[in-house]
Amino acid sequence: MSAAQCGVCGTAVRSAFRAPQPEIAPDLDMRPGEPARSTLRDWVLVCPNCGAAAPDLAAVPPSARPVVESDEYRMLSTSVLEETLPFRRWALILAGSRDRAGQAEALLQAAWAADDAAAMAEAARLRTEVATLWDGTDDVELGLRRLDVLRRAGLFEAAEAWATVLTERGADELGRSIIGFQRVRIAARDIGRHLISSALPPPAYAPHVSHGKRATTGFWSRLLRK
Ligand SMILES: [Zn+2]
Repeated sequence: MSAAQCGVCGTAVRSAFRAPQPEIAPDLDMRPGEPARSTLRDWVLVCPNCGAAAPDLAAVPPSARPVVESDEYRMLSTSVLEETLPFRRWALILAGSRDRAGQAEALLQAAWAADDAAAMAEAARLRTEVATLWDGTDDVELGLRRLDVLRRAGLFEAAEAWATVLTERGADELGRSIIGFQRVRIAARDIGRHLISSALPPPAYAPHVSHGKRATTGFWSRLLRK
């Protein structure tokens, strides 16, 4: 007994997936820790009738129909890695509604799916797209995530240059700690994933971190309390 209907074609579809709360720290690009992490493939649903893709198909507006019926959308199924397809379709729908922030998140999720499929070149291409969408962001959290995205795309010079931009903006101690960690990984030409917790100083040496009072934003301090 499905309660949901595809917003594009009206077909009965599964309701939005609800991922379990992460119990482990996220990666530096904010991919959530387990047990949420390994449910990635359930995050974006695909309508079995029209092929629309979204976390919540019932919430896709009918105005997305031209995108779903476009050649570009149809061609994705033969041109991209299968594991990344739902996320790339969702990204295209968001691009059609000029939601660049949502598009970037969907493409980053596609990169995670490519990571899980050990498709390194595909993951790097997707991260390059994300970095472009986030270029010039003045949001502190997105800025730090973009640094990780550039490094993991193997764009080491661009990553180092972005680290300089973030530093010149005057990051707080927590931000500086993450930037410093990234710079060491960039110098080592490391494209691997790392947990946020591995980029932070031991609490004994940075009492403000454990208190979370002076963290960059509420967002980061929430993370640190996990
Ligand atoms: Zn549909």
